[in-house]
Amino acid sequence: MWAFAGGVGPGRVWSRRDRAGHRAWAGNGEQVFKDKLDYIVAGLKECQDAWAARVGQGGASAPYYTCHKIMRGLLDAHTLAGNATALAVARGMGEWVHSRLGHLPRAQLDRMWSLYIAGEYGGMNEIMADLHALTGNPTFLETARCFDNTALLADCVAGLDSLDGRHANQHIPQFLGYLRLFEESGETRYRTAAANFFDMVVPHRTYAHGGTGQGEIFRKRDVIAGSIVNTTNAETCAAYNMMKLARGLFFHTPHARYLDHHEKTLVNQILGSRRDANSTEDPLVTYMVPVGPGVRRGYGNIGTCCGGTGLENHTKFQDTIYFRSPADDTLYVNLFIASTLRWDSRGVTVTQTGDFPRTDTSTLTVTGSGRFDLRLRVPSWAALTVTLNGSPCTTTPGADGYASILRTWRTGDRVELRFPYRLRTTPTVDDQSLQSLSYGPLALIGKSSRTDTLPIPGDPVAGATPGPRPLTFTVNGTLFEPFHLADTNPYHAYFRRV
Ligand SMILES: [Zn+2]
Repeated sequence: MWAFAGGVGPGRVWSRRDRAGHRAWAGNGEQVFKDKLDYIVAGLKECQDAWAARVGQGGASAPYYTCHKIMRGLLDAHTLAGNATALAVARGMGEWVHSRLGHLPRAQLDRMWSLYIAGEYGGMNEIMADLHALTGNPTFLETARCFDNTALLADCVAGLDSLDGRHANQHIPQFLGYLRLFEESGETRYRTAAANFFDMVVPHRTYAHGGTGQGEIFRKRDVIAGSIVNTTNAETCAAYNMMKLARGLFFHTPHARYLDHHEKTLVNQILGSRRDANSTEDPLVTYMVPVGPGVRRGYGNIGTCCGGTGLENHTKFQDTIYFRSPADDTLYVNLFIASTLRWDSRGVTVTQTGDFPRTDTSTLTVTGSGRFDLRLRVPSWAALTVTLNGSPCTTTPGADGYASILRTWRTGDRVELRFPYRLRTTPTVDDQSLQSLSYGPLALIGKSSRTDTLPIPGDPVAGATPGPRPLTFTVNGTLFEPFHLADTNPYHAYFRRV
């Protein structure tokens, strides 16, 4: 899982001060998270032992969606926190899954997976491929293939977009699994399907904040304005899983466009999906993050899938900032989030300082020495300028969308990045006068309680004046704020240009 990824050290990791409780153990090493995790794994082991003693193998049923969640947590407990019991429990569950599915005819499997909600199995194929990687047991790879959703898989391999009307978060995780199946089996059709699927969703079914879906369902390709329905757009889990898919695809096709989507979703929908308020009793996370006229966000949520995903979402701010190449000679700087990277295999530490996304500058300071290629993501929304120890550098992006600085680095080298924010409007593809406003990577929303579409006369970029707080603007008397400011006031993610 982490073969290609650089980690983030326990140094300063950017987070909002009111979210301290949501930083997980893998990111910051706080013992309280590890203790809780070990306690849960021990409990699950007891349950498994008791169940095996009473009923033996088989004879019970479990919805695979929940099965995946438990197994995912167990494997993360093993790989990220070194809990050996967790792997043993997950392996036992994997063997049980094989005993249930391994002998079933393909037609029966296909019928199951085509049903809602029986077919919503989360990332069962991903977890079985992970078990294969960890154990080397080919049975687990065979079991991963049992979850092939044959018809949709074939469509996506062929680049045929048949997503209209399909349940979004039922299907997105299946493609995370196909990507892992490609990694474990080398069968390129699985990777092709995942890449094509991503391209069907981004940008063709993606809203201004990075989210997708309406009423949990994918709507027609290139129908954005026509699929904005009040409060029911953009399930949070779907945004989470599309970010994960973007990240996974980057490992095979390193290109800035995947990180553009990741960042857009992270600093808009995900950052706005936890209310700006303290609570020790309520996670205050979202289910839908709507984009309709005059909508409000509902925070709370301990009952839906998004309640669980919502807790994990806010560990994502310290993830994916850096990757290293398989040859360990290239460092990708993907996100401009203040952080400290310990690149232990190279004896190098890179410290990134700044206040992204509040500011449009960031500074990288190198400690240690060695020759490597520092690749800086050139975001789609800015003209990046870079200085190295005070001297301007060329920032023409390469074919991968990254600017490269290949040199022998020394302690104290400083790379200063400027990615100036500017206001811009983006029309929806199916209605040119229905538009969204953004500022750098930040989607802006008009704060208004009117429930019809917000009209803006003239050019909002030309007519905008600075608002009362940083990153805010006033346009035609309406306050526009960053999407991620997480309150329950009514807003408009889109406006009508008149
Ligand atoms: Zn959900």
